[in-house]
Amino acid sequence: MEKKGAVLLIFTGGTVSMGEDPDTQALVPLDSTQVLGFIPELEMLNVTISSVSFDPLIDSSDVMPDTWIRIANLIKKHYTQFDGFVVLHGTDTMAYSASALSFMLEHLTKPVIFTGSQLPVGVLRSDAKENLITAIEIAAAQTANGHARVPEVCLYFEDQLMRGNRTTKRNTEEFDAFASFNYPELAKSGVHIRYFPANCHYEPVNQPLILHTGLDPNIAILKIFPGISEKTVAALLHTDGLKGVVLESFGAGNAPSCDWLYKQLKMADERGIVTVNVSQCRAGAVEMGRYQTSINLLKAGVVSGYDMTVEAAITKLMYLFGTFSDTKEIKRQLAISLRGEMTV
Ligand code: ASP
Repeated sequence: MEKKGAVLLIFTGGTVSMGEDPDTQALVPLDSTQVLGFIPELEMLNVTISSVSFDPLIDSSDVMPDTWIRIANLIKKHYTQFDGFVVLHGTDTMAYSASALSFMLEHLTKPVIFTGSQLPVGVLRSDAKENLITAIEIAAAQTANGHARVPEVCLYFEDQLMRGNRTTKRNTEEFDAFASFNYPELAKSGVHIRYFPANCHYEPVNQPLILHTGLDPNIAILKIFPGISEKTVAALLHTDGLKGVVLESFGAGNAPSCDWLYKQLKMADERGIVTVNVSQCRAGAVEMGRYQTSINLLKAGVVSGYDMTVEAAITKLMYLFGTFSDTKEIKRQLAISLRGEMTV
């Protein structure tokens, strides 16, 4: 059978590429050939599959910005040779990695699909097989005019193809481990794979891929809670080298109405620290100015993150501070949706 598409698998590690040691029954990492050996069904796909692998494979808790640069460089290096890319990745930080890659790959016109599994490929009842087979099928899928059906960074898990920078790991136990609370799915797999093109993000096909590898990790999360003290907030905002803050606020973007909080945030803003406001609620958006408590945040220079996930907000700040030096430009880009990461 003549193969119709070509997909590169990038093995980074995680549960998906593990199996049981026959002697000790302990879970151990498997190499890419061993992983693919557990899924002979891949032969039936009309797709030429190649692979590259991290050596050693890593647990995704050890993922760092450098890991994202490695993945992005591999995609850039092989970009013209393949129709799509599937990144096999641990589930713990997959939503961060998919968000980061979405910002790093500008003008992406091919699918980059992150997937993994809750149970190792080498154990009975593993969800790895279905996740990997369908992710590959979607990565190779093209429209009648030869364009990728889903030309963006996505995450495929348990029947659902989601925009990567909209995802959050929500469950450590169930196969349905990821959710995209604020954005509908891009495709759904059942008896057929149903695509929802109206939900996809399309970049102009005649623009070359631009790789951004500048990532600044001088970012912090400030999660508000009833009773948070000024000294805690002040200590965080005076962290040496701090550039950006993700403020996790209450409800639709509110924070306690203590004068000291707004003063601390305003002083941080004057020192060039950029703060973006996202909600502690998983679904819904920040609506700054709806209540007096968030008007004060606006006055302190805080930018609305609308319905962005924390994972997207963190990686967007890393990307913006790694790419631009002008704070005004960073705030401008923060307030617009760059890769479909928020609904403005
Ligand atoms: N700790 C693993 C990882 O994220 C969990 C998983 O893959 O599901 O690498």
